[in-house]
Parts: sequence; structure tokens; C-alpha cells
Amino acid sequence: MAIRDIITIGHPTLTRIADPVAVVDDGIRALAADMIDTMRSAPGIGLAAPQVDVSKRLIVIDPSAGENPDETLVLVNPEILEQEGQESGEEGCLSVPGVFEPVSRPTRAVVSYLDLEGVPRTVEGLNLKARVLCHEIDHLNGKLFIERLSPLKRALIKKKLKKTRPQDEGR
Ligand code: ZN
Repeated sequence: MAIRDIITIGHPTLTRIADPVAVVDDGIRALAADMIDTMRSAPGIGLAAPQVDVSKRLIVIDPSAGENPDETLVLVNPEILEQEGQESGEEGCLSVPGVFEPVSRPTRAVVSYLDLEGVPRTVEGLNLKARVLCHEIDHLNGKLFIERLSPLKRALIKKKLKKTRPQDEGR
């Protein structure tokens, strides 16, 4: 297991639509283990493979933020089957450092996925868990949470990020 580098806004992998995982093999299991390490060390409550520059449909979540290891879940090829409700809550992203803004998300989401043995499963997320699932699945579709803010707010954030992180320009 290893901690991988997290790429940040401006990197082209973050805006790509990630490829489905064809076979859940040892390579995928190793990637998932690395992603869990990376999420925990960041620390974060969710991580999508594109954030470690792997354009594959794989996410890891831990809504307990390390409090309860049993809540760590790996989802291969996750898909939202059902969603309902709406709630605004503050969100941040390891790929958009220093930015925290309220985002509207469903209060309940049911997601289908494959586990690390390749077995099809579903999981229900309520409130924060629904938010994390939706945020991470957005990453697989090349979408950062700031894309869900108003165009004005988004423009201001991008301007600010460019000023404070000139090393990211052109990435
Ligand atoms: Zn994110």
C-alpha cells in the first residue's frame, strides 16, 4: 500500500469522463488499497480514482472520517440508481484546496457498484453519506463540486486559485 499524489484543479484528468473498470483484478485491488491510504492520510472522507490521476470508475468513501473503519467502502463502477430530497451543505475537495462552499445535494441516494470481488451490490446513503457518494461519482464524470456553484462564484474561485497557486497554471 502506498500514498499517492492527489492532483488538483487544472489537471486534465479531473475533467475527463473516467473509463469503466472491465475486470476487478489485483491491480484494481491494489489501487483501492492505495486510495484508502491516500484518503486517510489527506485526511478526507472520500476519494475518486481520477484524483490520483487514474481515469477509472472507482471511488472510496469513509463518511466517519476515520472514526469507524467499518464505514470505509470501496465502490467499483458506482452508479446512482435512486436519489431524493435536497439539502445544502458545505463541501470541500482534496483537488480544490482551500475552497469550501455550500452545495445542494440529495439527502438520500441508492448506488449500485461492484465490490472488490467483482460482486454486484447496492448501498443506501443518507445525508452526509449521500453527499459523499454524489461528490465522488461526480469526479468520475469529470465534474468538480465548484461546477455546481453559480457561474459568478465559480469564476471568482478560479481567479483566486490561479493567484494563490501559480505553479498550477498550464497543468
Ligand atoms: Zn472531490
